[in-house]
Amino acid sequence: VASVRDVSKTFGARKALDGVSLDVAAGEMVALIGPSGSGKSTLLRSITGLQPIDPGKGRIDVFGETVQQNGRVTGAVRRARGKLGMIFQQFNLVGRLSLFSNVMLGALGRIPGWRGALGLWPSQDKARAMAALHRVGVSDYAAQRANTLSGGQQQRGAIARALVQGAQGILADEPVASLDPVSARKVMELLVELNKRDGLGVIVTLHQVDYAIRYCDRVVALKSGKIVYDGPATGLDTRILIDIYGPEFEDAF
Ligand code: ATP
Ligand code: MG
Repeated sequence: VASVRDVSKTFGARKALDGVSLDVAAGEMVALIGPSGSGKSTLLRSITGLQPIDPGKGRIDVFGETVQQNGRVTGAVRRARGKLGMIFQQFNLVGRLSLFSNVMLGALGRIPGWRGALGLWPSQDKARAMAALHRVGVSDYAAQRANTLSGGQQQRGAIARALVQGAQGILADEPVASLDPVSARKVMELLVELNKRDGLGVIVTLHQVDYAIRYCDRVVALKSGKIVYDGPATGLDTRILIDIYGPEFEDAF
């Protein structure tokens, strides 16, 4: 999915990423954990090319194409973004459009104009959008305005949009942070299913360490912009987690 080589990102005097190297192969499901401010979102934004990395060193490849090198975002980034579905904590659907129209945005790569208003979508795209909504279990809500749906339904819609777009990998930044535990579990199970059954590579940032352990094969932990753990979820123990989150971790868990 992505190859990150010696990447740093500085904001003023603060190093949000400090020499990060990470390879995520197609078909992997990786949890990105670490305290608030450790650089998780910055790393995901760097992979999508939304944020240029520090110049002078470092390189990021997405599906074999270099998207960032020497502080420059390359021309390959558009193609790479098409292969990556982005999922956010706040769902990022267009609230006043129907769930169906939101998913169509993934198919067409643009805001629906008059054709959409008249319901004249290309029928092939329509069928793909409905299939994706069905796939993630929210086809019953296709006609409903996105801002009237529950958080879990919206998040599934956002995943459907990524599928319709033809994503081969998913970058999810705290996709379950705004959801109740049951909806959160269902969204995590959906990501696992897309990973295991459809072979999508998944990188998901999580605050819930127990979710990372339960749903992901591999866990990468960031602390102050550095990777301090990269290994199997089963290898995480209390001592390592205290090292990542500090001594209060034990009380919180
Ligand atoms: P959280 O778990 O709270 O989402 P995070 O691990 O995603 O945290 P980042 O958002 O990547 O952390 O931020 C890493 C560091 O970079 C923080 O210290 C943050 O203040 C800083 N930072 C991120 N984006 C910017 C920006 N656009 N301008 C200035 N500083 C920034
Ligand atoms: Mg973040």
